[in-house]
Order: sequence, then C-alpha cells, then structure tokens
Amino acid sequence: MTDTHTLLTVDRLNKSYGALPVLKDVSFTLGRGERIALIGPSGSGKSTCLRAINFLDPPTNGDIRIDGELIGRRADGRLMTDAELAPQRAEIGMVFQHFHLWPHLSVQANVALQPRKVRGLAANEAAKLADELLAKVHLGHKSGEMPSRLSGGQQQRVAIARALAQQPKLLLFDEPTSALDPELVGEVLNVIKELANEGRSMVLVTHEIAFAREVADRILFMDGGRIVEEGPSRQILDHPREPRLRQFLSSLSRPEGRP
Ligand code: ADP
Ligand code: MG
Repeated sequence: MTDTHTLLTVDRLNKSYGALPVLKDVSFTLGRGERIALIGPSGSGKSTCLRAINFLDPPTNGDIRIDGELIGRRADGRLMTDAELAPQRAEIGMVFQHFHLWPHLSVQANVALQPRKVRGLAANEAAKLADELLAKVHLGHKSGEMPSRLSGGQQQRVAIARALAQQPKLLLFDEPTSALDPELVGEVLNVIKELANEGRSMVLVTHEIAFAREVADRILFMDGGRIVEEGPSRQILDHPREPRLRQFLSSLSRPEGRP
C-alpha cells in the first residue's frame, strides 16, 4: 500500500510504566505538511506519546510508521538496537521543554554534531549547514558563542536548528516554550510558525492555545492516556463537546490565581 499523503501513522499505541497504563489505544495519522497540536492536562500522556513516536521510550504495544515504514521494530517484532534505530530517529526531529545543548560546545558545534557524526559530513560542510540553519532561526550572529551566553529563547532556537540539522521528515515539539520567561516565548513561537509556513510536518504539545489555533490544522485533546476529542482546531477550541475538554479550556483561559 502506498499512501503519499500520510506521513505518520500512530496505531493503537499503549504504554505502561509497571502496572500503570499511561497511553491507552492512542491512534492518529498526520498528513504530509500537516500540523497537529496535542493538548491536555498535566499527566495525560502527551510527553509519553511523543517519546513513544521516536522510540526514546518504546511503546508497550502498537505501531508507529513513517512513510509506511515501521519504526523501532523489525518485521519479526523484535525491538531494534540503538544503532538500527539511529537512521529512523534522524527522520524525527525533537525539541524538548529543556534544550539540553552541550555546554562545552559552541552554538555552531551543537548544530553541526549530528550531521558530522550520523551523516558523516566533513567538518566544513557541517559548519556551513549549521550556520545556514542558525540564520534560519535568526541566530546567524551567535554561531561562535557558547550556549551559556545565550538567553533561554535563543538556546531553544539553537535546539530547533539542531533538530533541523537532522533533515527530519517530522518535527515533534514538547512544550517548547514552557520553561521560558514570558518575554522570550514569542521569538520561539515565531520560529515555529515560520517552519509551519514552510510546510513542515509537526506534532506540537503546547499550552499556548492562541498559538495552537493559529498554527495547528487539527487538535487532539488527551486525558487519562486517551485521545478524548479531536478535530479541526477551530472546532475543538470554539465548539468543544466533551465536558473534560470544556473544563480544560476554561482552566487555561482563567487568569492564574483566580478561582
Ligand atoms: P504529560 O506530558 O501529558 O504531562 P506524561 O506523558 O509526562 O504526561 O505522563 C503521563 C503519566 O505517566 C503520568 O502519570 C506520569 O507520572 C507517568 N510517567 C511518565 N514518565 C514516567 C516514567 N518514566 N516512569 C513512571 N511513570 C511515568
Ligand atoms: Mg509533558
């Protein structure tokens, strides 16, 4: 079967930590160039879902496919080794809440590392690629700096450039702005918007509802390890059906500290 439209298929994903089920039959597809926002209360399984997609944390059950290719398991069902997984993981760029840049490497070297190590680019080619990607996230002038000299928003943009350096087919963002001071959120969201406008395929976990409305084609609402409601972004945000989703949305729009 060839389906040129579907990029990612998540099929009946289940994940338990010991006896604790955390993902329960999570299924969805992402079209090429499509953007999905994954929303839901803390502890609902959003991060676990993203980590399962690239087998950072293998699912207990269920299949992940990218362009029809099974991720993380061989045809006989055996889990792949990290070496076998590396080329598949390269297809999936991940950006976390905390940026995890290498503190002892320059900004440029952080971005150039994967292309050098995994793709075997020569040092000068990898450096050139890194500078191109840093320019794309508006940090061309910071290439030679050490990460500790950058603001949180700048560090997160370096992390985005690093994810792009893998030449991924898919980008996963896990609350990319929730560790940032409020005044730094906008610059990171703008870069993500620019990537969305380029037609990149992405799954975004975010609590920034205005951003989800603007950038996401579809929204999935998770609660208790399940996708409880999904649909076009406007429909989910303006006409939520599930009481749990309504309650979640009103808890977000309520200013902090007020009942
Ligand atoms: P979210 O990202 O939606 O806040 P998570 O996916 O982080 O939710 O967590 C879902 C549930 O799984 C939570 O109950 C959390 O405590 C549990 N969990 C997450 N990671 C682990 C782990 N490594 N070991 C045990 N439980 C975990
Ligand atoms: Mg999370």
